[in-house]
Amino acid sequence: MSRIIYCNHCGRELAVSDRVLSTNCRWCNQRVAVQDQYINHYHAGTNIETAGSIVIAEHGHVRARLQANNLEVQGSGQVYGSVIAREKVTIDAEANLLGDVTAARLEVRPGAHLRGFYRIGSAKK
Ligand SMILES: [Zn+2]
Repeated sequence: MSRIIYCNHCGRELAVSDRVLSTNCRWCNQRVAVQDQYINHYHAGTNIETAGSIVIAEHGHVRARLQANNLEVQGSGQVYGSVIAREKVTIDAEANLLGDVTAARLEVRPGAHLRGFYRIGSAKK
């Protein structure tokens, strides 16, 4: 099985096998991480970029820039840093997200703590 992903670097479409963890973009030749990231610990420094999804779980505390297709902050997960999601950002009721957010769609449950500049909607407009 293969699926369509979008290059983090140039934004163009790539077809990849379900099983690969990373690939080289056939358009810009840069490495594109494809695997989903699940973070339930303290993570600081290294930016996380994937053409898959990033989940910051209940005990996750991230201080880094995040870029993914989808991002979800669960439970009382915390994110300090800017977020770019090609598709959707989901923020749970107890979560903290301090940083600028760019996404096509946003879902925030009542009670979440947010601070930053939000740019939501299709990037094509
Ligand atoms: Zn590319």
